[in-house]
Amino acid sequence: MNQHAKVDIRHSTCPHDCPSACALDVEVPEGRSIGRIRGSKQQTYTAGVVCAKVARYAERIHHSERLMYPLRRTGPKGSGQFARISWDEALDEIAARFDAAEREFGAESVWPYYYAGTMGLVMRDGLNRLSHVKKYSRFYATICSTIARIGFTVGTGKIAGVDPREMGVSDLVVIWGTNPVNTQVNVMTHASRARKERGAKIAAVDVYNNETMKQADIKILLRPGTDGAFACAVMHVLFREGLADRDYLARYTDCPDQLEAHLKTRTPAWASAISGVPVEEIEAFARMVGQTKRSFFRLGYGFTRSRNGAAQMHAALCIPAVTGAWQYEGGGAFFNNAGIWRFDESIIEGHDAIDPATRVLDQSKIGRILTGDAEALKGGGPVKAMLIQNTNPMTVAPEQALVRQGFAREDLFVAVHEQFMTETAQMADIVLPATMFMEHDDLYYGGGHQHISVGPKLIDPPGECRSNHEVMQALGRRLNAVHPGFDMTARELIDATLKKSGHGDIDTLEAELWRDLQPDFRTSHYLDGFAHADGKFHFKVDWGRVPVGSGGLMGAWERMPSLPDHWTIIEEADEQHPFRLATSPSRSFLNTSFNETPSSQAREGAPTVMIHPEDAKALSVADGDPVTLGNMRGETTLTARLFDGVRRGVLIAESIHPNKAHIGGRGINMLTGAEAVAPVGGAAFHDNKVWLRKASTLA
Ligand code: SF4
Repeated sequence: MNQHAKVDIRHSTCPHDCPSACALDVEVPEGRSIGRIRGSKQQTYTAGVVCAKVARYAERIHHSERLMYPLRRTGPKGSGQFARISWDEALDEIAARFDAAEREFGAESVWPYYYAGTMGLVMRDGLNRLSHVKKYSRFYATICSTIARIGFTVGTGKIAGVDPREMGVSDLVVIWGTNPVNTQVNVMTHASRARKERGAKIAAVDVYNNETMKQADIKILLRPGTDGAFACAVMHVLFREGLADRDYLARYTDCPDQLEAHLKTRTPAWASAISGVPVEEIEAFARMVGQTKRSFFRLGYGFTRSRNGAAQMHAALCIPAVTGAWQYEGGGAFFNNAGIWRFDESIIEGHDAIDPATRVLDQSKIGRILTGDAEALKGGGPVKAMLIQNTNPMTVAPEQALVRQGFAREDLFVAVHEQFMTETAQMADIVLPATMFMEHDDLYYGGGHQHISVGPKLIDPPGECRSNHEVMQALGRRLNAVHPGFDMTARELIDATLKKSGHGDIDTLEAELWRDLQPDFRTSHYLDGFAHADGKFHFKVDWGRVPVGSGGLMGAWERMPSLPDHWTIIEEADEQHPFRLATSPSRSFLNTSFNETPSSQAREGAPTVMIHPEDAKALSVADGDPVTLGNMRGETTLTARLFDGVRRGVLIAESIHPNKAHIGGRGINMLTGAEAVAPVGGAAFHDNKVWLRKASTLA
């Protein structure tokens, strides 16, 4: 950088799919480019810390391979052959193809598809407005958080909990089902503060000795899908050894006697056989939790990726209700703050235009949907046209064999609005270049904390990049989609949304930089009662009466245990598939974002799978050998990494590498399933039975 360049420090919010939603101080040299990014020291959750991949954001936003112009496919699908066209040509063609599909096959043959490549409300959710106004097939978002959210809600009555900054005044921070060193670094800031200033302990409960567990004082290594068994045994010990807070239980919970009786048979020996955690470790953990009033349970998204995940989240959440930790500063539980923002997104999403009769298609089942599965299509006709924003289903969606088959259909028209030529964009008929967050205005909330903020446009976009909202406006005009949201600028949408939500206006929030919406202590700790009608924490759940989204009840919800338990619905290993595979998040990629930046690529290297050395030995696999994993859905080939931080029979593949980075070109989601997870749908990315064999490098 020119030493004499004028460098402004501007404020923004990280838009990536990460609960931290960090408050950013951004260097903007000469008002034209982005320099170094730092975490804001003033915002008390970010507390001056951001992850390395965003600190280096200049290499992503100024990347030489960014899409700059609209493109039209000129070769076979997936060939990568495109020619530059004008925006008008691109938008006219998309509109014409959508209208043609609607005329011939009905409006539901068009399926706009998006997800959380940005978490800004305007740029993420605006596509729903087009779907609602045009009566296109609606989108049911299941790929990430549904299962963990419902598991938390059934206990507390609301997705909200203790102020996550209270981790800093806790005496025991239990980090369970999340690897924040990789995925939300700020959790470690607050947990580490407690350790440094108070001598607090950090406990990690997970399926491998990941980067967070390596920093923890107490390490609980589970087999995937057995958290519920572990939680039950912990509660068994709490009751057995007089560590349950009976006064709290009587006042704040629904059926403590029934729970205690139910847990009599859920002994540490029973849980040890299921989870692989030694009896003495279960008992020691239970005693530590029972004897530490300020125990903070930071529960994560890992729960959502298992077929029994909702029941497991609920089981883990029951522990601080048994100990009464919710009563104390630094005690209780937190998962997400969706219950406190109160955003009214009706203008952004066009809620007034929703026709409940329009079919709702499950995001996770895109492979089945595009290959004509009647059940996934809800008995309706085929999908013939799509516009995709903020997501890369050709790499991230489960059942990749079907996804690939679907996107290869000659009769399917696909437009992709993206920042880079992703594997999904390569399958498109039309590719549109998209802005990044510092090139447009948007509105953000912190899933892992309590702040809302405006992220303003800081610099002009390169080439001909346009924002998601600009594309919505241009398509809305061409498709005769009539709704006030299409006539408003992004800033006007933000302003209207804030006003409708009771959060003032855009200018005020922008001037404040962020606003802290944490409810008061009594509310956050549910000291005046939990959010159920009876004011109690619920140990007992009627899964048939949980709050459902537009998809309704799904999966084997009738078989879910009403009290905390180990629900055996997981994809257990068997003779043909002796391993259980979890596909865990890496540190330098965020789903498939950042897999285009050189520093993240260098750090992540080639796709690997972690295997216990004894398992490797039994299969004559050495460290660095290529190995093929397979099951009834497909196969993928990666490099073996011998690692004793997993239980025998467990495999961990970190990162979603591009398919093309794998030997043979088939990525990890060839192995993951899309059947609906009970009770509200989801994708069980950490719950796969597989076989493993040594591969040839030519696989
Ligand atoms: S930790 Fe998460 S929110 Fe913070 S900068 Fe990194 S990706 Fe963004």
